[in-house]
Amino acid sequence: MRGTSGNRAKVVLFDLDGTLVKAGGAGRLALNRAVERLYGLKDVCFKFSLAGRMDRDNFELAFKAARGRRPTARERRGLEAAYLRRLPLEVRRAVREKRYAKIPGISKLIEKLSRRPEVLVGLGTGNMERGARIKLRPSGLLRYFAFGGYGSDGRSRVHMLRVAVRRAKAILRARMPAGGPIAPGSIFVIGDTPRDVRAGKKAGYRTGAVTRGFGEPEALRRARPELLAPDFRDRRLWLDWISSLGIAASGQPPCRGGKRALRRNRRCSTKARRR
Ligand SMILES: [Mg+2]
Repeated sequence: MRGTSGNRAKVVLFDLDGTLVKAGGAGRLALNRAVERLYGLKDVCFKFSLAGRMDRDNFELAFKAARGRRPTARERRGLEAAYLRRLPLEVRRAVREKRYAKIPGISKLIEKLSRRPEVLVGLGTGNMERGARIKLRPSGLLRYFAFGGYGSDGRSRVHMLRVAVRRAKAILRARMPAGGPIAPGSIFVIGDTPRDVRAGKKAGYRTGAVTRGFGEPEALRRARPELLAPDFRDRRLWLDWISSLGIAASGQPPCRGGKRALRRNRRCSTKARRR
């Protein structure tokens, strides 16, 4: 493989909300209730979009909406703690009310990837680590994610992805001591919003996205990920992409599978508009 000194190791980082699961608004409801309990203001998170943002930005926006200023570090920690206390209840409720769903095809894809010894699957999410675990647990997918980058690692999505890759490298060094460095072309970032794609590209990694999450399909297309598909049901498409040779992330044309998926996806959106 070009630029990897014969090391075939690959790192695949999945965003969580809208990419692995849709948690039925559990995060938004938990933050609403946390703000209401601490500051007495109801439904604060209906004033802005949480999709693709880092948790700390969402907490700050929620605090600002309630108090009209930025939180101190102590206030932010208080809000985070109240959110994490409420989140398990909201996730359980979403499961019970059948609002919690996995993105189609994700279980089989993750299972296949996790059987490949050269592939390391991780999270690349704006959720705080504890929040990510709470949201993911009902899906049965949590056991596949031994590491990740999280909202608790900072406020920049690019930094969070780089932290995830650093953790992946430490695991791979232990697993494959003879392996060389991992080239950016062997690092895959998969998400559901233009923010995921832009951050992956900025970090120098390869990017793929699904349109069945929370991102606008048109905005996702404009962000130009290498691979864009409705979801993960066409497993071969995703596996072929992840098996393809390392190419620098930005400025490259989509891989063959990506073009096919884009065409199929355009047909899907046209149908959706007709409906
Ligand atoms: Mg997302």
